[in-house]
Amino acid sequence: MRYAETGFNLEIDLSRGSIDQVESDPGDTELYLGGLGTNAKILWDRVPPEVEPFSPENLLIFGAGLLCGTPATGCNRTIVSTISPQTKLMAFSMMGGFWAPELKYAGYDKVILRGKSTDLVYLWIKDDRIEIRDASHLRGKGATETAEQIRQELNEPKAQVAAIGLAGENRVYFASIEQGRSSASRLGIGAVMGDKGLKAIAVRGTGDINVAQPAEFLALCHEVLEYIEFRNQNPIPGVMAILQGLGSPQEMATHDEKWHTENFMWGNSRVRRKGFWTDEVKAAWTQTMEGMRTRLISCYNCPMKCGATISPPGQPTYMMKCFSKLTYTMAAMSDLDFGMKIAQHATEYGVDGFSTPQVMAFAIELYENGILTDADMPGLPSDNEGRFYWLLDRIVRREGIGDILANGTYWAAKEIGNGAEEYAHNNIKKHEQLPLKLSMLNPIYFLMYATGEKINITQIEGQFPQAPYPKREHREAFVKDWIQVPDEKFKQYFLDWELRGENSIPYYPTVQMCCDIVDWQEKMHYIDDALGMCAGLSSFPLKPPYHIHNYPKFISAGTGIAMDEDKLSQAAKRYRTLVRAINISRGMRRKDDKPPQNHWKKRFPELEKELLDTYYKFKGWNSEGIPTKASLDELGLDYVSAEFIQRGILKEGDDSRPEEATTAELTQE
Ligand code: SF4
Repeated sequence: MRYAETGFNLEIDLSRGSIDQVESDPGDTELYLGGLGTNAKILWDRVPPEVEPFSPENLLIFGAGLLCGTPATGCNRTIVSTISPQTKLMAFSMMGGFWAPELKYAGYDKVILRGKSTDLVYLWIKDDRIEIRDASHLRGKGATETAEQIRQELNEPKAQVAAIGLAGENRVYFASIEQGRSSASRLGIGAVMGDKGLKAIAVRGTGDINVAQPAEFLALCHEVLEYIEFRNQNPIPGVMAILQGLGSPQEMATHDEKWHTENFMWGNSRVRRKGFWTDEVKAAWTQTMEGMRTRLISCYNCPMKCGATISPPGQPTYMMKCFSKLTYTMAAMSDLDFGMKIAQHATEYGVDGFSTPQVMAFAIELYENGILTDADMPGLPSDNEGRFYWLLDRIVRREGIGDILANGTYWAAKEIGNGAEEYAHNNIKKHEQLPLKLSMLNPIYFLMYATGEKINITQIEGQFPQAPYPKREHREAFVKDWIQVPDEKFKQYFLDWELRGENSIPYYPTVQMCCDIVDWQEKMHYIDDALGMCAGLSSFPLKPPYHIHNYPKFISAGTGIAMDEDKLSQAAKRYRTLVRAINISRGMRRKDDKPPQNHWKKRFPELEKELLDTYYKFKGWNSEGIPTKASLDELGLDYVSAEFIQRGILKEGDDSRPEEATTAELTQE
């Protein structure tokens, strides 16, 4: 018997219309866990670097995390993996909500889609009854509207539906997959779903998931629930509100937006508005939120209530969580009322709430600087808000200039030319990032931004405080109950971190310490993404209930696989390296490992080089960022090293990048 996982994947070929229930290899679970880990293994095995994002050979994998469907609190993530049209690299975008547990209860760990349907279809999974159904009547419909209509026509009010809107159908590079209380937004996975002719996947499961040691597992779950209660009652002092507790930042519950509105950039990531947050603004925004927020809501099996249903006057209700509350508002230099209203349209269209406003602000900046003209923008309204609605409609329909903008700022700037590339200034690996422009280089964030392949908005942060506490006594108090650290040395790193003087950024934490910190942070995110755990309860907060010390116990009691911290760390390193290997095989190199040029005003090129050199070595990568043969073989990824040698990416016995590989490299541009 398989525990925690079902042991079966659904393989759907949309070209042929075939449906297969395929048993997965339990050996892969030990090596790659599940979710992201096994998604990466499947992509490596079956999608070679020559396959383009919109090829029928590209796979779109909906992977439930290994512990989804068990009673583990907050474990509900679906990890959607494919090759991104935006970056041409591996995408893995997560969604919370209820979909992954439902899939497990239907009897499957993953839905693996290949091929393309000539007609628009949707997939209906009801336990072992699976149908590919006509969706032509859903063409052009919104994502939430589609989900509701499917539930009605199936007469299955409890079905969980992941759907795309018009943006996905039209292959907008930042199209999302929406799913009730959540969405998988980053890297254009909705565009790949649309390209495959798949409007939605509806799932209803009535089975059970077995755990190997139920009493032990439930005892661990109780400990986590008790800790959540404790932390909710005892916020961490001395840090900003969003870092004091648990869950994703409680944007739907909070009214104080001074920190975001005054520190993040407005417009096309250009303008900071110090002094913006006045009593009048706060009163108006509070009234807006109170007037539209109908209910605070949670994902499956979680008490945190990070999301909310939003009902703008005269518009359908939709769900929102996190920072997209502000992204449209700040990009359009407008107010919260506008942001909450346009987000309803954007959710139905199914677009990424981070990229979309940046793309629109970029277009307006080009227009204001004469790079785009009235000929490109016929009928563009004169007010900023009107312009945003105008642009959104054209982007999701790929009409006129919208067809170019639908490819994101990086590709759009190349196509527009005439100096437009200067305005696409906020990308990493061709993808729009958090609109933050800061003064002094932060070496920890430099490494995270440069080398992160998750390419999500928060990269891989969490666990370690973002800034030093001014007073040592406060730092001493902080480390006292810091049980989450994988090693006591992290406490010392933090204790010695000062705001000013020798032990301050950019030279402290030292290069070696930065490597340790970033590696720890990244490892926890990658473990979450394999287990299906919400980062809001594990890798993102400072003192979360899940950590490297209790995760092995959850995995052992849940799956029956004997797990300890070393074995778990090694597994995470294995599939993290596999993700990098997929991207390396697609041409990613050191040149791509860099933050936006103007992310920090004060840069330190020598330090940055040392950081990257040292981190590469620490990770077992050569000077080009390619995992060496020795490090691949040590992780059991000898099939990767063999392929790298065959493709000329590595040479036998040589951990440096051979010259001739330059020409053999698959370029992305
Ligand atoms: S912490 Fe928040 S985002 Fe995470 S599972 Fe719970 S409700 Fe969802």
